Amino acid sequence: MIEKPVIIAGFPGSALPMNAFVIDAFEFCRLKEHRQGEIAVADSSRLSSECDDKSAVLFWSIDGRTSSLGFEQLTLCVSGAVSLQCQRCLTSCTFDLASESSLILAKDEVHADEIEAMLDDDAIDVIVGSKELDIVVLIEDEVLLAIPLSPKHEVCPDLATLKALNGAKRSSPFDALKRLN
Ligand SMILES: [Zn+2]
Repeated sequence: MIEKPVIIAGFPGSALPMNAFVIDAFEFCRLKEHRQGEIAVADSSRLSSECDDKSAVLFWSIDGRTSSLGFEQLTLCVSGAVSLQCQRCLTSCTFDLASESSLILAKDEVHADEIEAMLDDDAIDVIVGSKELDIVVLIEDEVLLAIPLSPKHEVCPDLATLKALNGAKRSSPFDALKRLN
């Protein structure tokens, strides 16, 4: 048996060959392979359109295995800080992404429906596998599902300043009364 080299893709500054993001999904799982790398938001049009800071870089890893029920299964992890536009104050807010998902591979759409009905588990996604599965699409899906639909600062920077000013104004008459007593 010839041992396959583990391909580590996407170090910063490297010219990433496109095939580093393409796997034979079923084989990848059978051989329990692992791959990891980075993806720049700027390199993905789907991520660029959602993220404020195009220079952000996300880390990803993907592992293949056979599930307890005998299905080929991928575990995909994506992490990193993404800049989104706060829907309240419209400035940038940072979202710390740390997402992991389990993807069961099906042979085709019909097979996917069958597996989904059998598993009846919302935590596991069933996707149609292929000999040339593009991981970029999976990573993009993972990120787009993980980021909030309507991102907001916990406390918006401008609102916080306003609140502090209002608070100071409101408390001053009472402070004055206290001093009179
Ligand atoms: Zn805000």
